[in-house]
Amino acid sequence: MVTDLVIAAVVAVVGGGTAALVPYVRSRRKSHAPGSAADGGVGTLERGQEPAAGAGTLAPPEPRAPDAAAPPDVAAPPEVAEVPGVVVERPPPSAGRLARLRSRLARSHSAIGSVLLNLISTGKLDEQAFEQMEDTLISADMGVGPARELVEKLRTEVKVVGTQDPAEVKELLRGELVAMINPELDRTLRLVRHGDRPSVVLIVGVNGTGKTTTCGKLGRVLVGDGKTVVLGAADTFRAAAADQLQTWGDRVGAQVVRSDREGADPASVAFEAVNVGIQQGVDTVIIDTAGRLHTKAGLMDELGKIKRVIEKHGTVDEVLLVLDATTGQNGLRQARVFAEVVDVTGIILTKLDGTAKGGIVVQVQRELGVPVKLVGLGEGPDDLAYFDPDVFVDAILAD
Ligand code: GDP
Repeated sequence: MVTDLVIAAVVAVVGGGTAALVPYVRSRRKSHAPGSAADGGVGTLERGQEPAAGAGTLAPPEPRAPDAAAPPDVAAPPEVAEVPGVVVERPPPSAGRLARLRSRLARSHSAIGSVLLNLISTGKLDEQAFEQMEDTLISADMGVGPARELVEKLRTEVKVVGTQDPAEVKELLRGELVAMINPELDRTLRLVRHGDRPSVVLIVGVNGTGKTTTCGKLGRVLVGDGKTVVLGAADTFRAAAADQLQTWGDRVGAQVVRSDREGADPASVAFEAVNVGIQQGVDTVIIDTAGRLHTKAGLMDELGKIKRVIEKHGTVDEVLLVLDATTGQNGLRQARVFAEVVDVTGIILTKLDGTAKGGIVVQVQRELGVPVKLVGLGEGPDDLAYFDPDVFVDAILAD
C-alpha cells in the first residue's frame, strides 16, 4: 500500500539565529491534498514571529540565508515509509463509558461512599454523625465550604422529611451530592465545524498531569464517535511528547503535526496543525501544549500567542485544562494560574482511578467556575470518559 506515507514538508532556512520549524505530517490513511503541508505549502515561522492571516492557504516560505548557529537545516524531507506493524484501530464509541468504568472509582468509593453509608446505616444520624460526614467530605478534597454546605442541607432535609430510614437518607444524600456537582452545567464539548474549518481544542495544564496522554485519548474518543481529527504536538519542549502523540495518532490513523526540532515555536506548530486540519477537511484539531509554569507572564505569552495565531485562520472552541486529581491543593493552585492566563472552557480531571479524593470534582468546579467535562480513569487507551454527575455519585455510593 502506497497510502501509508510519511510526509515532510518544508525547506526552512532560517536567519537571525532563530530556530527553524519543520512541521511534518505522517498520514497512514490518505495522501496529502494539494497545497497542504505535504507539498511544501506550509509556512515556516521564527520564534516571536506570527503567521499572517489567511483562510488556510499559506504562501510558500521565503528562502532566507542559512544560520550558522542552527543545526544543518532540513533541506530533505523525511523519507516516505510505511509504518510497520501498526494496525489502525477502531476505538469504541464513548457512550456509557463512565458507567462501564465505575469500578475504577473504587478508592473514592471506599473513602467517601462506604464511610457515608456506614454512618447512615445506623439509622441514628446525630450531631456527631453529621460532623463525621463533614470530615469525610473534607478529607476527600471536596473543600471545607462545600462540605459544610452539603451537610447543612442534608441536616435540614432529614429534619423536614422526618426520616432516619437508611434508604431514604441515602436518597437525600445522593441528591445533595449530585446537586453539589451541579448537573445543570453544560458539559458538552463544542466541537462543531465552522463551515470548511475544523473545531479546535487546546489542551493546557502542568506537565505530568496527563496532558499528552489525554490528547491521545481524546483523539480516540472522537474517532470512536465517527469524527476525524488532527493532533498538533505544540509541546515542543519535550521531544518525547511529540513521539508520544505520534504513537497515539498512528494507532487511530490520525495525522500528527509536529516539529522535528525540540524547542521550536509552539505557536507555529499549532498554526500548522490547524492549517493541515483545514486542508484535510477534518472535524477537529486537538493541540497539546507545554505546561511549564516558569513564570505567569511567560505562560500567558505562550498560550496567548498560540491562541492568537490559531485565530488567524481558525477558532479555538475549547480550552481544556488537565488537572491531576491526585495532586490536591497543589494541583488546584497550579490550575488557578492557568485559569488566570487563559479562558478555560472545561476541566479534564485525570487519575481519578488512583485517588480516594473524588470530592475534588466539586472543589475544582467551584474554584475555577468551569465544569469538569471529562475524567481520566486509568492508563489504558480508552480510559477517558465524558463526565456525568449522576453516574459518578452512584458509583461512589454503590452498595
Ligand atoms: P503530561 O506531561 O502532562 O503530558 O503527562 P503524560 O501524558 O505524559 O502522562 C503522565 C503519566 O500519567 C503517564 O504515565 C500516563 O499514563 C499517566 N496518566 C494519564 N492519565 C491517567 C489517568 O487517568 N489515570 C492514571 N492512572 N494514569 C494516567
